[in-house]
Amino acid sequence: MKIVFATGNGGKLREASEILGGGFELVTPAEMGIHEDIPETGATLRANSLQKADYLWKKCGCNCFADDTGLEVDVLGGAPGVHTARYAGEDKDFNRNMDKLLDELSRKETEASMMSAMGITPKKHLRRARFKSVITLIIDGTHHFFEGVLEGTIARSKAGAGGFGYDPVFIPDDYPGKTLAEITEEQKNSISHRGKALRKMADFLNA
Ligand code: IMP
Repeated sequence: MKIVFATGNGGKLREASEILGGGFELVTPAEMGIHEDIPETGATLRANSLQKADYLWKKCGCNCFADDTGLEVDVLGGAPGVHTARYAGEDKDFNRNMDKLLDELSRKETEASMMSAMGITPKKHLRRARFKSVITLIIDGTHHFFEGVLEGTIARSKAGAGGFGYDPVFIPDDYPGKTLAEITEEQKNSISHRGKALRKMADFLNA
């Protein structure tokens, strides 16, 4: 089955092809002659993935899917969430995004220790966070949704050279003491939010 995946990212395409297996031919919007930026202006990850998949469906009427991922930090009320890619600005600079996050969290820690000095019990899990991926799949015009979550904590400083995005500051619960940028790509794909959502979609498509 041919499915269009709303991405221009070669790494994502490779990961999705491996997880879906040989029965599926994944093609990019560019390969279907769709070269414009696909809009993602939704207020939630689900709304964004739905918007991207709907856009493709309306353009080509072909089976397709789109994903959207966000990092949710509890003490920041779920931010950066849907703004994860552009947390520190429109240029989507990974380093500036991570610096902003680390600054916000150290500010929260300072506030918590001041409150603690005043006898107010601080929140226990100041660095608790998770990556969430939502996929919208459209098969013959019908929508299907799949979600994957990776639980972890935000490190105090960046570590590791692998991966992308916030990997150097995210310590997954599955690998205590190591950031996603310090484990192998294979290890990351086996636990990642996107991997989990893709595997749920693969189970559905292969059922
Ligand atoms: P997207 O929806 O997959 O484009 O992800 C939005 C943003 O989330 C990216 O620009 C990254 O900053 C971040 N992100 C997504 N997946 C990961 C990941 O696996 N590791 C680190 N950051 C990620």
